[in-house]
Amino acid sequence: SETLIAAPLAGDVQVSFEFFPPKTEKMEQNLWASIERLAPVRPAYVSVTYGAGGSTRERTHATVTRIRRETDLEPAAHLTCVGASRDEIDAIARAYWAEGVRHIVALRGDPAEGMDKEYRPHPEGYAYASDLVAGLKKIADFEISVAAYPEVHPQAVSAQADLDNLKRKVDAGASRAITQSFFDIDVFLRFLEKADKAGITVPIVPGILPVTNFSRVKEFSTATGASIPGWMADLFDGLDNDPETRKLVAAMVAAQQCRLLYGAGIKNFHFYTLNRADLTYAICHVLGVRPNKTPGDA
Ligand code: FAD
Repeated sequence: SETLIAAPLAGDVQVSFEFFPPKTEKMEQNLWASIERLAPVRPAYVSVTYGAGGSTRERTHATVTRIRRETDLEPAAHLTCVGASRDEIDAIARAYWAEGVRHIVALRGDPAEGMDKEYRPHPEGYAYASDLVAGLKKIADFEISVAAYPEVHPQAVSAQADLDNLKRKVDAGASRAITQSFFDIDVFLRFLEKADKAGITVPIVPGILPVTNFSRVKEFSTATGASIPGWMADLFDGLDNDPETRKLVAAMVAAQQCRLLYGAGIKNFHFYTLNRADLTYAICHVLGVRPNKTPGDA
């Protein structure tokens, strides 16, 4: 409708960005260029992921610490239960607190071998994200975000059990849930209703993945259970060898999804940036999330 396309947004949107810790010098430069580009839109926080199996422990810590020391951004450190004892995880959390990092994204994590392998808690570790949340809250009064799954976590015994689990994480002290990426807006809105009925009162923030590599997303979605609407497959049809056009389409799709969500009352968005600034920056612009002009600016 015309309102969807033309309505200027009220400037009441809040965004946050997810990055992953860089592996090489070149990736590091790329990440920092992206952070510099995105910082002026003033995200509520920026989060840094923790590799599967805890594989990026040092790199995550280094990236979070650098954001904390060198920028005005609020870093949120992802932390998982996988492959470490409670003592080890507690030590990481204490080091974050000492560094002034106050926000943790607390997750169970997946085995290092990938999502297909069965998850086994470390014998002396936190078994589930809800246990980690409770443990972190004992250490210090962290702000804690947790994961939510509009299309149900693949290992959950049922949708209800998965919601009960989200409730446990909130009851343990989480003050926000961030969702797994999804593409069907109705799926997300129905999930919000169910969460509300289950008594989950914290904000559930949609995780927005601007899709530039559609074939990879298709693979990934099979593993995570995220459904891909027919219209989306249609939009990317024939573009496998045309990255330029895919990028424009991706920005359009994600911006439209955000505006539909905004129309349904959603004001907070979490972007999976994949360490790239351009698409996220453009979508923020469309959402009215823009750098503040300072006096003297044209
Ligand atoms: P949990 O909330 O512990 O749930 C895991 C599963 O166990 C669910 O199926 C749940 O229903 C079930 N469950 C929970 N408690 C019990 C119980 N007591 N008994 C039986 N079943 C139970 N992974 C990383 O490795 N690093 C990251 O940085 C990272 N960041 C993420 C960020 C977001 C926003 C999201 C959505 C996911 C992220 N992940 C990350 C992926 C996540 O680690 C996986 O999806 C993992 O499989 C589940 O983590 P969780 O925190 O949701 O686990």
